Amino acid sequence: MKLLLVEDNADDVAFLGASLRRQQASDIELVHCRSLKEARELLGGGGFDVVLLDLHLPDARGMECVDGIQAVNQRAAVVALSGQDDEAFAVSILNKGVQDYLVKWEGQGRTILRSIRYAVERKRAELHLNYLAQFDPLTELGNRQYFQDQLRRATARARREGNRVALFFLDIDQFKMVNDTLGHQAGDQLLQEVAQRLGSQVRAGDVMARLGGDEFAILMEGVGTPVDAGTIAQQLLDVIEAPFTIDGHQVKVTTSIGITFYPSDNNDTVRLLKNADIAMYQAKDSGRNNFKFFTERMHTELVEYHELQRDIAEALRKQGFRLVFQPKVNLKTRKLQGLEALLRWDCPKRGPVSPARFIPVAEASGHIVPLGYWVLNSVCETIKAWEQAGLPLVPVSVNVSTRQFQQADFQRRVAGTLEQFEVAPELIELEMTEGLLMEDTDAAHRTLTGLKDLGLRIAIDDFGTGHSCLSYLRRFPIDVLKIDRSFVNEVGASEDSRIIIDAIISLARSLRLETVAEGVETNAQLDFLMERGCFIAQGFLFGMPMAAPQLEPLLNELMEGTALMRVPDFADPLRASGS
Ligand code: C2E
Ligand code: MG
Ligand code: MG
Repeated sequence: MKLLLVEDNADDVAFLGASLRRQQASDIELVHCRSLKEARELLGGGGFDVVLLDLHLPDARGMECVDGIQAVNQRAAVVALSGQDDEAFAVSILNKGVQDYLVKWEGQGRTILRSIRYAVERKRAELHLNYLAQFDPLTELGNRQYFQDQLRRATARARREGNRVALFFLDIDQFKMVNDTLGHQAGDQLLQEVAQRLGSQVRAGDVMARLGGDEFAILMEGVGTPVDAGTIAQQLLDVIEAPFTIDGHQVKVTTSIGITFYPSDNNDTVRLLKNADIAMYQAKDSGRNNFKFFTERMHTELVEYHELQRDIAEALRKQGFRLVFQPKVNLKTRKLQGLEALLRWDCPKRGPVSPARFIPVAEASGHIVPLGYWVLNSVCETIKAWEQAGLPLVPVSVNVSTRQFQQADFQRRVAGTLEQFEVAPELIELEMTEGLLMEDTDAAHRTLTGLKDLGLRIAIDDFGTGHSCLSYLRRFPIDVLKIDRSFVNEVGASEDSRIIIDAIISLARSLRLETVAEGVETNAQLDFLMERGCFIAQGFLFGMPMAAPQLEPLLNELMEGTALMRVPDFADPLRASGS
């Protein structure tokens, strides 16, 4: 048992220590501190069973001492130490959740020890009752009170950390019928099995409770988008839809789910649960076995996502995508160093859709995999055509999404495509994001090494925006770091950005990697980069991404560096407009 003695009087400390020793209370580990502040810090670390608290501390008196301790302590019993003259006061603080008080030092060591042990017992019983008050014995889940409690905590955390919390409110659609036809016992069993199945879908850290009757609630921190929440809700619906065997009978039930978010919908926790309830009823009204968001806007967002996903699939089938190429320039020679292939989508319904909008959707839906291969194919096809037309060839960068890279046959398919179009591997550079390094799996390592051995170049795109541990860089066979355009963009305005760029360049230099600056738009940015030693750049200053027919007539000139001398003529609206 671990005891914290909060006492500034050295005599009292010595007395207590001696008393405990005389009682041979060898199971008690005594920790001592002299002020409320120290006590609060120690208790914050947890692990104490009981606190012996003097009410005359250098930094607090009386009730302040008790309040100060209770604010940081839920688990340890508290025994207050009072002087003779404030016994009445000591009695009154028992209402504050203090388990006992001792008048200094009326009792013998034995009385003191007994008081400590009883206090610990009492606290344990209290905690257990508390637990029972928050517990649903049928499903062994928390109950409504527990859920409210957890919801308050989760929302407080989310507020601090700027996170979102998703709340799912579930109701079984045919529960009454099961109860009426098969009896209460069958109903109870169904609830238990529902609880179990739902439990299989939640992650560690999620909170799940039975609110009463056939109502369940689930709380997930860090689930902030309707898309994510929708995916989870669908999984919950699916897992309940599979038939149950109750008492020898096959029983099929469905659920209706209402979803709401903190803080976007409401930040009052009681209101939040009500909103989810309302949304659940809307789900029931619209035919059951589905889910609804509390706000219409969120629902629209989800519907749009699904439409976009469908249209991406269709565009894939109907060759609706095309590629553009953006020059990368060697700043020393001003000559073309390479090109980056970028996807474009002119959707018949929506008009041009930015990759920033559709790539994340394609990633979430998995369409990015066939789309990525389409890009690689088209790039190889284009290079082949340029070669046959006698045009100069430079390496072309292809963006690869992590999801595509993780396909087991990625390396084989890349190799196959290169062979099919007879394109030299040196002409293809693969751009991946930092996320890939963070995985740091053997598989990732093998694939990258394999690609490297084939002769391809590997670049890390948008470098500096992820949270990759820099030591990973050394372990992977990488050729290039592309400095993210957000840093380049802020070179003039942000000291931080300048420092980051400097750091990336010197890091790259020490690892013998090339650096490419993205998004260079102004001469000031260009000057800064050259001064710091980054000699390859890409951006509107040197050229917009262009379709192949537009680029082809320029290729020869770009190789000579002459096209770049005439930047204003170069398809570049920024320059042309004089900005
Ligand atoms: P990224 O790979 O970092 O590509 C560079 C982006 O910066 C391109 O946007 C390009 O048009 C834009 N950009 C180039 N120069 C400038 C400049 O001077 N100023 C500014 N403000 N922007 C500049 P885009 O084409 O909209 O592509 C956005 C992102 O979409 C790409 O970022 C890439 O992550 C992704 N993406 C594009 N094509 C593909 C693809 O084929 N496969 C995959 N997986 N992702 C792609
Ligand atoms: Mg890129
Ligand atoms: Mg980039």
